[in-house]
Amino acid sequence: MSRKYFIAGNWKMNKTAAEAVALIESIKEQIGSQEKVEVAVCPTFTSLDAASKALKGSTMKLGAQNMYFEKSGAFTGEISADMLKQFDCSYVILGHSERREYFKECNCLINKKVKAVLENGMKPILCVGEKLEERESGKTLDVVSEQTIKGLEGISGADAEKIVIAYEPVWAIGTGKTATPAMAQEVHAAIRKILADAFGSETAEKIQILYGGSMKPENADALLAEKDIDGGLIGGAALKADSFAALVKSAESAK
Ligand code: PEP
Repeated sequence: MSRKYFIAGNWKMNKTAAEAVALIESIKEQIGSQEKVEVAVCPTFTSLDAASKALKGSTMKLGAQNMYFEKSGAFTGEISADMLKQFDCSYVILGHSERREYFKECNCLINKKVKAVLENGMKPILCVGEKLEERESGKTLDVVSEQTIKGLEGISGADAEKIVIAYEPVWAIGTGKTATPAMAQEVHAAIRKILADAFGSETAEKIQILYGGSMKPENADALLAEKDIDGGLIGGAALKADSFAALVKSAESAK
């Protein structure tokens, strides 16, 4: 497979700067350097500076958990691309279900953010996923398709290659419930088909599609063995060096 595995930690609203550095040091010690797997950690904004320094000399990359699409100005509480670039951020998580749910982010806003991240030379990790009631009423593929298509509206094929998609069924996030490998693969394959329709199959084959939703060392091997699952966006299990390192090792030995 030409796609590299990618394991990214979404630390959410956890860890002070000092705690972030301690976690990074411990992960570095446990995973060493990586060849087959890309690894990134996405701390809170206030830890990015310290995290960036702690990551120097390591193959691990830095990501942010959100970004506003405007360059600067009267947007109280927001963070711009230039502010993230100060810390060598490579990735920005966008459209996470918690942002869609608690902060009412819509596909249209997320699309503006995706474009701004790309224009600034960083890579968006675009999160898509259905809620429990949507899955139970057979709407999973409709929801995921709409979020993917609208999130990527107006993106060129060349830029599409830089995007990472994270399929995160909302009912599996932080709940301990995981999609079965077959359930996840079905949606990942559907996403790849949407990407092929939009950008051509050659481009679609290059785009990493991560699974997120209670991924942990005990279920990672089976998920990563699926053809279209290229890694994981990890919440809870990314907050402990042991479990995060075990996930990186699973991806190293996958397929
Ligand atoms: C997430 O929120 O991106 C996530 C996947 O969380 P968890 O692994 O805790 O389910």
